[in-house]
Amino acid sequence: EGMTVSELAKRTGESTVTLQDILVNVGEKAESEFEPLSIDVAELVAMEVGINARRIHSNEGAELLPRPPVVTVMGHVDHGKTSLLDALRQTSVAAKEAGGITQHLGAFVVDMSSGASITFLDTPGHAAFSAMRARGAAVTDIVVLVVAADDGVMRQTLEAMSHAKAANVPIVVAINKCDKPAANPDRVKIQLASEGLQLEEMGGDVQVVEVSAVQKTGLDNLEEALLLQAEMMNLKARIDGPAQAYVVEARLDKGRGPLATAIVKAGTLVCGQYVVIGSEWGRIRAIRDMIGKLAVQARPAMPVEIEGLKGLPMAGDDIIVVESEERAKMLSAGRKRKFEKDRLRKISEGIETLETCEDGDEEQLPKRVEMPIIVKADVQGTVQAVTDALRTLNSPQLYVNIVHVGVGPISHSDVDLAQACGACIVGFNVKSPPSSISQAAIQASIKIMMHRVIYHLLEDVGNLIVDKAPGTS
Ligand code: GDP
Repeated sequence: EGMTVSELAKRTGESTVTLQDILVNVGEKAESEFEPLSIDVAELVAMEVGINARRIHSNEGAELLPRPPVVTVMGHVDHGKTSLLDALRQTSVAAKEAGGITQHLGAFVVDMSSGASITFLDTPGHAAFSAMRARGAAVTDIVVLVVAADDGVMRQTLEAMSHAKAANVPIVVAINKCDKPAANPDRVKIQLASEGLQLEEMGGDVQVVEVSAVQKTGLDNLEEALLLQAEMMNLKARIDGPAQAYVVEARLDKGRGPLATAIVKAGTLVCGQYVVIGSEWGRIRAIRDMIGKLAVQARPAMPVEIEGLKGLPMAGDDIIVVESEERAKMLSAGRKRKFEKDRLRKISEGIETLETCEDGDEEQLPKRVEMPIIVKADVQGTVQAVTDALRTLNSPQLYVNIVHVGVGPISHSDVDLAQACGACIVGFNVKSPPSSISQAAIQASIKIMMHRVIYHLLEDVGNLIVDKAPGTS
């Protein structure tokens, strides 16, 4: 808080002059080098120079208090991740008091009679974990690696180990299905050890617990192990001050609008505050805990559902608190611009990654050919019809990426954009562009397709795909 331009320059490695220019660009005054900036202005400026702003948030000087661990359950498909989460959820005191009914928030807390508690992310699997990490959300403190005692270590078990290792998150192993006659926990341990996991009973520090999610045995041992792990990690957070939080799940509710499940990492989130979430913003209208009870505030590691957002955020988005609506809008707009710029850059570099990941089996998809397309049409309805039709061409081999749509004739800026992202341009039911534009397109090797019949358009695009992707013909 209260960082100056000069300090920001040190942290970002940019010159103060550059930063002052950016300040003006985002509509701020050009402050003197030694004038403190508010957190969100500092963040916005840092963002504009490509620094992930979370890093510049400072907890210096704040009092840190112990906080509960946030745990993700991972493992091979069918090894019992979901069953284990269900069983753990039922061990919570609050869940018992609420008659076992908790709403699905994407996370839940197990509070134990000892007073300790553990927060579990309720979306098992690697895709969720990777998606969060890809957005820089270091939400998970500990991974529970579920391995079925009869099946042993499988492909996704190893994947989960790699994910945890890459994220530098410690593992606690839960050998599940120990009730089964074919269960052989010792074999699993040997397998894990041979994969490089330093198990505690072999002199390492990875705890192993034998459980049965179905018979609900060993669950308290698992919880104890997680608390012990958390204790060793000395997890602490600042409680006072503005919250830093992450979205773990978001959905659109017909009556209540966009809802997000948030987990606070530091500080306290309070009802009524203005927040920026990813590139969206809002004012927190209501906070609910996992049994649906209204709360006034949320503290570190407490999963809550927040209401009052203007748009739907994504899992892994960060949440920051800002002081006013104006700030929230400004930061949100700044981030939208930045995301759009990044997106266009990625498209032009041809590294647009596809969100095809389904839980677990995300890999080994055949390489998809991406086809960026710009659509111009006479009226909005036609634009929609044309983009819908083009999207029907999507397949495991082909990704039709509609990078831009618009009403009206093909313009110079369409050609520029097409050039930037290697797209072709579809003009549907519009006048042919003047020769200056078609010449520019030819020079930039941009294909323009003019059509009045959807069927012909699809045929034309289909031919283009065959050209683009040798091997599909
Ligand atoms: P996930 O794919 O990892 O989420 O696995 P599920 O939780 O869906 O479990 C897969 C199957 O294993 C289901 O039929 C469960 O009933 C069964 N299962 C899960 N845990 C246990 C267990 O502890 N013992 C036994 N016998 N079966 C289990």
